[in-house]
Formats: sequence, C-alpha cells, structure tokens
Amino acid sequence: MNSSAAGLRVNGVVTMKLDLPLCLFNRHAPRRSRVKWDGLNFVGHCRFCEKPIRRMDKGRWVRDQIEKIKSSDL
Ligand SMILES: [Zn+2]
Repeated sequence: MNSSAAGLRVNGVVTMKLDLPLCLFNRHAPRRSRVKWDGLNFVGHCRFCEKPIRRMDKGRWVRDQIEKIKSSDL
C-alpha cells in the first residue's frame, strides 16, 4: 500500500499552506483586533492564512495586492 507515503507527502504540504477553502477563493476573514485604516481601505490580516488582506467592499476581504506589488519591487 502507498497510503502511508502519500499521507506523509500531504502532511508536508499542509504545513506549507493550510487547508483553507475560502482563502483559495480569495475570500478571507480579518482578525478584527488588528484591522486598521490605511487611508484607502480597511486592511488587516486573515485569521486563517495570516496573509495581508484589504476590504474591497462591505464584508468582502481579498488579498492585499498593494502589498504584493511593494514586495516585488524590492
Ligand atoms: Zn485567508
């Protein structure tokens, strides 16, 4: 049986990126205590995947693309 080997491989992936179905669809949920206003939108960190997120609309939080652009500039 290959099930044990496959299980080990899956475990390795799980530590890298958690099993976060909503996050995979770019639907995140903020840690309310850490949400702040940056002058454009509310920004914060996802309580599930810990990535920087931005509130584009009421109740709609997406990955913060501005942070992504900044980091790729460096
Ligand atoms: Zn997330």
